[in-house]
Amino acid sequence: MTQTITVIRGDGIGPEIMDATLHVLDAMKLGLAYEEADAGLVALEKHGDLLPQATLDSISRNKVALKSPLTTPVGGGFSSINVQLRRHFDLYANVRPATSFPNTRSRFTEGVDIITVRENTEGAYTAEGQETAPDGSWAVSITRNTRKGSERIVRYAFDLARSTGRKKVTVVHKANILKSTSGIFLNAARDVAKEYPDIECNEMIVDNCCMQLVMRPEQFDIIVTTNLFGDIISDLCAGLIGGLGLIPGANIGKDAAIFEAVHGSAPDIAGKGVANPCALLLGAAQMLDHIGMADRATQLRAAIVATLEAKDSLTPDLGGTGTTMSFAKAIAGRVAA
Ligand code: ATP
Ligand code: MG
Repeated sequence: MTQTITVIRGDGIGPEIMDATLHVLDAMKLGLAYEEADAGLVALEKHGDLLPQATLDSISRNKVALKSPLTTPVGGGFSSINVQLRRHFDLYANVRPATSFPNTRSRFTEGVDIITVRENTEGAYTAEGQETAPDGSWAVSITRNTRKGSERIVRYAFDLARSTGRKKVTVVHKANILKSTSGIFLNAARDVAKEYPDIECNEMIVDNCCMQLVMRPEQFDIIVTTNLFGDIISDLCAGLIGGLGLIPGANIGKDAAIFEAVHGSAPDIAGKGVANPCALLLGAAQMLDHIGMADRATQLRAAIVATLEAKDSLTPDLGGTGTTMSFAKAIAGRVAA
């Protein structure tokens, strides 16, 4: 049966990097079918809705989406479309791999291979109980972690370790100070870890983890952590290996998965044809892993590495003079059909 993917072209540089990504996927002759769906500013203009029901229906039907960045208009009371998508489909696992690549402008062009598994639905990002004193003298918000939510994200991380042949999971927390919310996560992690005696597990307090990441990133394999810490740590990891143009993100739930670039719509370079398509291409590689085409995902990653190694048509963020499409064509020329 042909696998159909919901394709969301998005805003800003979105359409350019999606064209580039689909060009490479087509060259691989994967036999996938695409169903286009609108979201973001484009959808607001065309359908009067940032996230039309037809788009939600398409993702429900196909269970897999490849998504470019979306712009949520500032003001007007719109809530983030990405957050809405994560909530709607309960996409609880946000998986962000940071791998060192050759010829990037970064401190670590080798030796980094870290997957951050971030809890995506609870913690400090529930937007619950937000309150500010009328005179601005205090503010509160609620952080809520559940035993169930903690267990399922940690289990996801250990299962990922097993399925990808990785050896170690580092549980990152702040349970020494945030005794309740980080404590429940740490306790759940300790219990789940017992079910995986074949995978090494260690614990690290988040502040120490940040220092260790900068000094000795090679010690990390998979990191699992709560929502806020995962958000910060995955950007730190992006910085280690050469920036936002190289980090994809998978948002995974029980019934659907959405694959994307971690970066935003980059309005400053939109329409110029210079955006680096690698983050979305690497998101497509995560998608191929997810739909049972892991060997093709490996080929795609190898073609990206080979193109970086050859410095062939690299985009300006990587120090080259290539364009989004010339870079994609150089990658497409190195993938096996
Ligand atoms: P948004 O509000 O959609 O997040 P933003 O203004 O925050 O947009 P980002 O997309 O987050 O912009 O990008 C931050 C910076 O990184 C910008 O200067 C942008 O040009 C650059 N950037 C982001 N993605 C890429 C890419 N794929 N290739 C090259 N540069 C990029
Ligand atoms: Mg941004």
